[in-house]
Amino acid sequence: MKAKKSVYIAYTGGTIGMRRGAHGYEPAPGFLEEQMARLSVLNSEDMPHYRIHEYDPLLDSSNMSPADWVKLGRDIMSRYQSYDGFIVLHGTDTMAFSASALSFMFRNLGKPIVFTGSQIPLCEVRTDARENLITSLLIAAHHPIPEVSLFIGHQLLRGNRATKISAKRFLAFSSPNYPPLGEAGVDLMIDRSRQLPPPSQPVAFDEVGQAQVADLRIFPGITPETLKGFLGPLQGAVLHTYGAGNAPDRPELLDVLRQASERGVVLVNCTQCLEGSVNMADYATGNALREVGVVSGYDMTPEAALTKLYHLLSRGLDPEIVRDQMQQNLRGELTRPTLQS
Ligand code: ASP
Repeated sequence: MKAKKSVYIAYTGGTIGMRRGAHGYEPAPGFLEEQMARLSVLNSEDMPHYRIHEYDPLLDSSNMSPADWVKLGRDIMSRYQSYDGFIVLHGTDTMAFSASALSFMFRNLGKPIVFTGSQIPLCEVRTDARENLITSLLIAAHHPIPEVSLFIGHQLLRGNRATKISAKRFLAFSSPNYPPLGEAGVDLMIDRSRQLPPPSQPVAFDEVGQAQVADLRIFPGITPETLKGFLGPLQGAVLHTYGAGNAPDRPELLDVLRQASERGVVLVNCTQCLEGSVNMADYATGNALREVGVVSGYDMTPEAALTKLYHLLSRGLDPEIVRDQMQQNLRGELTRPTLQS
């Protein structure tokens, strides 16, 4: 008889394990395990062994910070050899940030790390948590997908390609620029051709540290003063631009961006559009950004771009190296257009 697979569950918080309190849903220590103990299907022959580690404190993911990504990454790294796969139970609000951050912190990942959560807590009658939890356990145990992924509402997505698109649908996430890694229907279909290649080196973990980074959504009427005040204390920023990577090309605004680039602030261009890629050569307004030192984020999600900036800048790399790396595909997070001759 084949030995049962075993899965480690890092329970960080989120709706999945919450219960109704006086001010709305809130995390409650011990409550999720109590609810899981009532799910007889988890003891079925077909399910893997699992162990849950409940974090203290349990967080609504709105309260997650880079220090929490590090705590989670260290936890998984310290148990890496003992389990076949890993599940992170996490709130959906910032799940795409945490999944992206972990994808950059782990190098040569050879085992699956599957993020999941739910829109309705496990304790409620119409919960989506049950399916998400059971299918994630099966994926983490039986599919050695060598990357950080996210399973919610029947889709398995690459973590650093996923973004939350709905506060009400069970299918809360989308991966607009990369196809799903898998789909759970009558069969659990995992498409191996979409996975990252298995690593040839042992796994390694690079913690993110301190870095002054931020997101700025460009909007009609943005002033040089606003832009200057915003960029002042930063080492890096993701500029959420219009369409294919355009922003107003008024000289006063471009001057502020140029000065920031010259003092070493890494400026990355990501589109406000859900789908598609930045191409700064398309319009004069995009080209002007390139000329003042803004680099392309191509089709990265803003979550991937921001966490990648944290990852690179907190390692103390030179801004020019960070600019170059931001445009390279490190963990499957971006697609560079192929040059046409
Ligand atoms: N506010 C919750 C959280 O992100 C939402 C959820 O889990 O879906 O922790």
